[in-house]
Amino acid sequence: MTNSPPTPDYPALLKRIAVASGPAADQGQVADYIPALARVPADRFGMALQTLSGSLHRQGDADEPFSIQSISKIFTLTLAMGLVGEDLWRRVGREPSGNPFNSLVQLEREHGIPRNPFINAGALNVADLLVSRLDRPAAALRELVSELCGESVHIDAEVAASERAASDRNAALAHFMKSFGNLDNDVDDVLDFYVQHCALALSCAQLARATAYLAHDGLCPRTGRRILDPRQARRLNAIMLTCGTYDAAGDFAFEVGLPCKSGVGGGIVAVAPGQLTAAVWSPALGPSGNSVAGQQALERLVAETGLSVF
Ligand code: GLU
Repeated sequence: MTNSPPTPDYPALLKRIAVASGPAADQGQVADYIPALARVPADRFGMALQTLSGSLHRQGDADEPFSIQSISKIFTLTLAMGLVGEDLWRRVGREPSGNPFNSLVQLEREHGIPRNPFINAGALNVADLLVSRLDRPAAALRELVSELCGESVHIDAEVAASERAASDRNAALAHFMKSFGNLDNDVDDVLDFYVQHCALALSCAQLARATAYLAHDGLCPRTGRRILDPRQARRLNAIMLTCGTYDAAGDFAFEVGLPCKSGVGGGIVAVAPGQLTAAVWSPALGPSGNSVAGQQALERLVAETGLSVF
């Protein structure tokens, strides 16, 4: 008989991580291309771990809601996988882009088919699918995320309006796809929904709970409801690993070794299948658009626990 390894002392580990990684406010820049995000203080640091055995551990500003931005693309992709099935992959690929998340160039070369669902073009395409299939897509998404974390979450209307007013590049991406026949709805309707889902506000504790189904073969551990089938959950984790952290996905796979998704609000979520989810938030971003302290915190988490999919 083999003994399973002892459970780490997560509260002590989170404290060590916070001391070592801190907010790293002087090592990065808060995103300012969405004006409402520029006002977020750079010195915040929060982290939460949700284990599949049911414990939630919090550190620092773990209960302060922040703009999850591109992390919301996990949830829109989840809804689309359930509603559209395999046809989804005719409209959007699953290769890392190797280009900035809002690049137009690749989309032209590849005839309006976005490389993956996490770059902006891909997420706009997924948003278009949801606008076609759901009467009130933003409400449906908010309900799903509220159910997953067991608390009512909200969309920050000010952040959504601020991004909507600065949407020229995303509008260009959407028009481009439409010109190739790869977008069905009015561009304005797609953008309205896209900025709303990016403006979902969640705390680290809520985010770690809300993504636990990805560590649990697609089953929400809190309610027992199936959100994705196991194959879909594995695929979503694969896309997170290869495409979830902008142009640094290779570096994240190398240094962290877990499926991760980041957002320009400074959040990062990481999935350790069969074990736990981790959410970390610190608004100062490095050159690749990922939270500097967030990346350091995840590196330390895996260094101390040995968590990895490899
Ligand atoms: N709403 C943001 C945008 O489209 C999302 C960026 C991100 O977090 O990657 O620019």
